Amino acid sequence: MSDKGKTAQRGTGTRLVEAGRRREWTQGIVNPAIWRASTILFDTVADLRAAVKRPNDGLYYGRRGTPTQWALAEALTELEPGAGGTMLYPSGVAAIAMALLAVLKPGDELLMVDSTYEPTRAFCRSVLAPMGIATRFYDPMAGAGIADLIGETTRAIFLESPGSLTFEVQDIPAICAVARERGIVTLLDNTWATPLLFPAIAKGVDFSILACTKYIVGHSDAMLGSVTVAPQWLEALRRTSFLHGQCVSPDDAWLGSRGLRTLKARLRQHGEGALAVARWLADRPEVARVLHPALPGCPGHDVWQRDFAGASGLFSFVLKGGDDAARAALIDGLEHFGIGFSWGGFESLALPIDPEGLRTATHWQAEGPAVRLHVGLEDPEDLIADLAAGLERFAALV
Ligand SMILES: *Cc1c(COP(=O)(O)O)cnc(C)c1O
Repeated sequence: MSDKGKTAQRGTGTRLVEAGRRREWTQGIVNPAIWRASTILFDTVADLRAAVKRPNDGLYYGRRGTPTQWALAEALTELEPGAGGTMLYPSGVAAIAMALLAVLKPGDELLMVDSTYEPTRAFCRSVLAPMGIATRFYDPMAGAGIADLIGETTRAIFLESPGSLTFEVQDIPAICAVARERGIVTLLDNTWATPLLFPAIAKGVDFSILACTKYIVGHSDAMLGSVTVAPQWLEALRRTSFLHGQCVSPDDAWLGSRGLRTLKARLRQHGEGALAVARWLADRPEVARVLHPALPGCPGHDVWQRDFAGASGLFSFVLKGGDDAARAALIDGLEHFGIGFSWGGFESLALPIDPEGLRTATHWQAEGPAVRLHVGLEDPEDLIADLAAGLERFAALV
């Protein structure tokens, strides 16, 4: 689709600005326009039959997309050197579900990282298990030791790095090397880093999955998911997705394209702000641990330093002592942090987290309750002052 040589020469910022904006799709409009469609009309029966024969590109039927969706998919593909293509989904969870269903069949076993996003775990339990697909959870710090867990029926390894809530950084290259040797497929939930901070396909992953709802859309106003794959997996993914009727609205795809153009600038500021807040928290007496991949206390920090081009705006911290009520006092009074699910928008968020009930292969042990922060684009000094007052409310109840 895209000119590979050109892609290799351009930096990520340039690719973010230029990718997917084909003249035939934009007609010269800077941000690809919204093409709404179900029916596409053909001039003749012969034209209609020709379109049916090549339904993977060109206008055919609304469910197969229009230039609005194609522009976003092509841009996401260009962000992943070595990728064969991208499929879009109405949410990150739908993207994860379709990627898994494209790979697994009854009788297969899936190795799933223990620190995975909770709805991914629920999908394994409630959809895969009744289909006869077994899931074995593994320690996020397994690295090359994953080889010991691979059995006769193991078909795929699912990774998420850093892990949801607890931020363990996985040795993705080591796991992918083992998988390749054994003919096993690798799938990565790359939502935290995006291909900008971790170009997954180039690092050896077969499926790079994004909840575009987070940093790609970037403004907390649309749900969207994507799967970008190594070339040999595109046909299987496309087929599975079409059979399941997956498509995204052109309005949401357009919001994704619009957000994507500023991803580099936003991620840089999210990353800087979050690191400033994380470092400040690490020095506070009320805080036992900060789980931020760029800080030494985070499991896999050295691997993050080796493999990632930076950090985004999401991390957690563990309080020293205190209970649920003391943690609620900290969070409830915050002025600049909203209380809510999801993340990746321009605004800061604080969420109480309780990982102990969500782990089965590892044991979460903490010195007190924990909080996950998304650091938005506000000035870090304001966020720090807000958290300082919050820690005082917490300390008064401990
Ligand atoms: C939010 C999230 C998802 C799911 O995305 P939705 O668009 O909300 O369905 C998947 N993985 C991770 C790591 C997430 O944070």
